[in-house]
Amino acid sequence: SHRIMLGPLVAAIDQGTSSTRFLVFNSKTAELLSHHQVEIKQSFPKEGWVEEDPKEILQSVYECIERTCEKLTQLNIDISNIKAIGVTNQRETTLVWDKETGEPLYNAIGFLDWTDFLQCFCAVWLDLRTQSTVERLINKTPGRNKNHLKHKTGLPISTYFSAVKLRWLMDNVDKVHEAVVSHRAMFGTVDSWLIWCLTGGKSGGVHCTDVTNASRTMLFNIHTMDWDPELCKYDSSLVGQMCFKDGQAKNTYGTGCFLLRNTGAKPVMSDHGLLTTVAYKLGRDKPACYALEGSVAIAGAVVRWLQDNLGIIGSSEELEKLAASVGTSYGCYFVPAFSGLYAPYWEPSARGIICGLTQFTNKSHLAFAALEAVCFQTREILDAMNQDSGIPLTQLQVDGGMTSNRLLMQLQADILCIPVVKPSMPETTALGAAMAAGAAEGVSVWSLNPEDLSEVTSEKFEPQINPEESEFRYARWKKAVEKSMNWET
Ligand code: ADP
Repeated sequence: SHRIMLGPLVAAIDQGTSSTRFLVFNSKTAELLSHHQVEIKQSFPKEGWVEEDPKEILQSVYECIERTCEKLTQLNIDISNIKAIGVTNQRETTLVWDKETGEPLYNAIGFLDWTDFLQCFCAVWLDLRTQSTVERLINKTPGRNKNHLKHKTGLPISTYFSAVKLRWLMDNVDKVHEAVVSHRAMFGTVDSWLIWCLTGGKSGGVHCTDVTNASRTMLFNIHTMDWDPELCKYDSSLVGQMCFKDGQAKNTYGTGCFLLRNTGAKPVMSDHGLLTTVAYKLGRDKPACYALEGSVAIAGAVVRWLQDNLGIIGSSEELEKLAASVGTSYGCYFVPAFSGLYAPYWEPSARGIICGLTQFTNKSHLAFAALEAVCFQTREILDAMNQDSGIPLTQLQVDGGMTSNRLLMQLQADILCIPVVKPSMPETTALGAAMAAGAAEGVSVWSLNPEDLSEVTSEKFEPQINPEESEFRYARWKKAVEKSMNWET
């Protein structure tokens, strides 16, 4: 058998909250040639705490790369044609490790045989342990203003961002404190950790990140595009979906939702609690493009909760069947504010609430209400974006694991009253990372023509209910949100 000639290939490591994937694409056609996926464990050592094992994450990456390369070899595809690897990852997840020894800086779990890279620690973004740190930081600002640093970072001071987690680690974990004092501590998001390990680790690994990850640490000045000395001293996938044109937006439905709206070469500061972030920068000399971002903390996570905590579904696929069997929540509203509400509320004390129950309500209605919750939360962010930018969005592009749920996509179009467009290729985030890496390495990826890339979109979900009904349900949802924020008073 002879080798198939495909020309240069580009690849992506897609390190998500619930799984890791490695994907290899044909750089000319963007065809997905092979991939492999491995689930990641999360641990919840106590309420409000979330941890993942960085070594398990690293191991999962190695496993995915090995399996994918085996599959390619079986297909007679020469793996030496892989010319660039992009990394897309769970952002704001904070890791600290020791650059000299790889010694654990927190919570040694002793899991794998990799004695070189001993335990370090990461806190993922569902995490609330940094709340007291946030309160202290806000108290130090003039007028106790959580937006004190926003003109530089685009972000409010919140538990969400890496710098706050780093501060917590330095204050609460002796080993981290000692490593920082003796200049041995390495800090980074998951991409930095993976790249450092994959490029040699303690014997010369590269410590780096990209502007989109850096812009979420709260230590990066989004105007000068550099680390900000003042911010550091102060205690402290859009490409894949082809959202190249100003005003385009996409929502990624994973464990949480991430809604990004391209605002072009100028950063727009939000009056509605959204973040201003760097959307992409394709190549060293190209200008940066900015975006408004809103995040929903709990999206796919509510599906897991129904499965793991309530046991009313056996798998995430079952949810769609259950919800579709009734086609309505029967007036039941479910606000899954398990760890507070993020954009546009930024209310850490909010908690989950299910209301509107009657004798008739059953688990199918609850399943439907859970899907609707994801859609309502998306609508809230989209409304805020429309107000900040002054231009209403006319359609929403989507990707992520939850978009395989067709009922969810239809509901989203109904609740937004605009079409929802899902690309024919589900792996757009990974493709974006692969493309950006290919562009940096000079491998031509579709000649990177934004117009061509936009053509990849395919399935369109049009709104099917009238706007009055949509508004009625949305108004009810808002009442439920109010209750979730004030249920104690
Ligand atoms: P992440 O990148 O955050 O790990 P993914 O994009 O892989 O997330 O999406 C996984 C999430 O989507 C899980 O929380 C899962 O429960 C949810 N999910 C996957 N398939 C479906 C489905 N058919 N219906 C509802 N939720 C789903």
